[in-house]
Amino acid sequence: MGYRVTLIPGDGIGPEVTNAARQVADATGVEIDWEVVEAGEKAIKQSGNPLPDAVFDSIRKNRLALKGPITTPIGAGFRSVNVALRQQLDLFASVRPARAIAGEGTRYPETDLIVVREATEGLYSGVEHWVDRDHSAAETVNIITRKASDRIIKFAFELARRERRKHLTAVHKANIMKTTGALFQTAFREMAPKYPEILADERLIDNMCMQLAKKPSDYDMIVTTNLFGDILSDLTAGLAGGLGVAPGALFGDTLAVFEPVHGSAPKYAGSDKADPTAEILCVELLLRHIGETEAADRVFRAVWETIAEKKFVTYDLALPGYTLTPVPPSTCSAMAAEIARKVPIVDLDAPLPHPNVPSSAVHAHLET
Ligand code: NAD
Repeated sequence: MGYRVTLIPGDGIGPEVTNAARQVADATGVEIDWEVVEAGEKAIKQSGNPLPDAVFDSIRKNRLALKGPITTPIGAGFRSVNVALRQQLDLFASVRPARAIAGEGTRYPETDLIVVREATEGLYSGVEHWVDRDHSAAETVNIITRKASDRIIKFAFELARRERRKHLTAVHKANIMKTTGALFQTAFREMAPKYPEILADERLIDNMCMQLAKKPSDYDMIVTTNLFGDILSDLTAGLAGGLGVAPGALFGDTLAVFEPVHGSAPKYAGSDKADPTAEILCVELLLRHIGETEAADRVFRAVWETIAEKKFVTYDLALPGYTLTPVPPSTCSAMAAEIARKVPIVDLDAPLPHPNVPSSAVHAHLET
């Protein structure tokens, strides 16, 4: 059976990394009919609108999308296309696994965490204004509702249960934000007893950052509000080896959009230097979501072996910090071609050359 998937190339390095991901997806042999729609800078040039109706129509129809990063101009100009997409399609759950892959030089090779972030409200609600005419004061409203808190916390506990994860930590700032923080905290405390097999605890956001930097292996899964989740998932991506290797998924009740944690990295746009791994691992997550488990395993294994061999790795994986022995960097397209070449021929039964091999159960949450 074939699948129809919306493909949004995005801005900056987006077209390069989505091309790479598409090449790898096609190498699995799973029949995917890609429906390409433009959002972001190209859409502005074409129609003056960064998020045309065609994007929403395509995602609603196909219920599956692979998305590249989209630039958000700082300050004046358009609102974030990414935030608008999440809000308008009610993609409320952002799931960001942080798995260390074959990087013997990464600081925390044992990292295997999942951040679940509420993606529709909080400080990203878009309710903000200048307080006075001189623009000497401004307000951004932090909207936290009981309904959205219950929904994301339930999603996280269900995910933990399906993944057989043992520990879920709620992250907030209820000591200072005594209404919004307390609301999220209360929702978590009231939901936790329904999942007695999962250790449920809480951390304040500042303490959580320190704890993760010190010993990430003390943590398993995190559930948090929008801004804290945005920051924490970049932090956990760094623990696992960097933005170049961190995939993500956005879920609504019926829709799923897969996008990397990283942004459009404009300075690398068009240079064929960007790491395609995060976008390729989004394909892995997408394949698991649609039940194409063997194809997903092949993609993961091909990525792992390519990174471990170090013959075709982009600059970020070729340097100390990721690898102990530096190697000459390869290009985005050469790395993607090598991963695609390996996909059909990898041996799924051979042991992976690294102690931290996530089990297939790690990804089972995406098989909804
Ligand atoms: P960024 O993630 O684009 O880049 C930060 C740095 O990380 C880059 O300069 C580069 O050194 C490195 N990096 C990121 N992705 C990489 C890759 N695939 N390979 C190698 N190195 C990589 O973050 P930024 O510079 O803060 O944001 C740039 C733009 O992207 C902004 O407009 C921002 O709003 C947008 N953004 C979009 C999304 C999204 O579409 N979901 C997410 C984050 C940021």
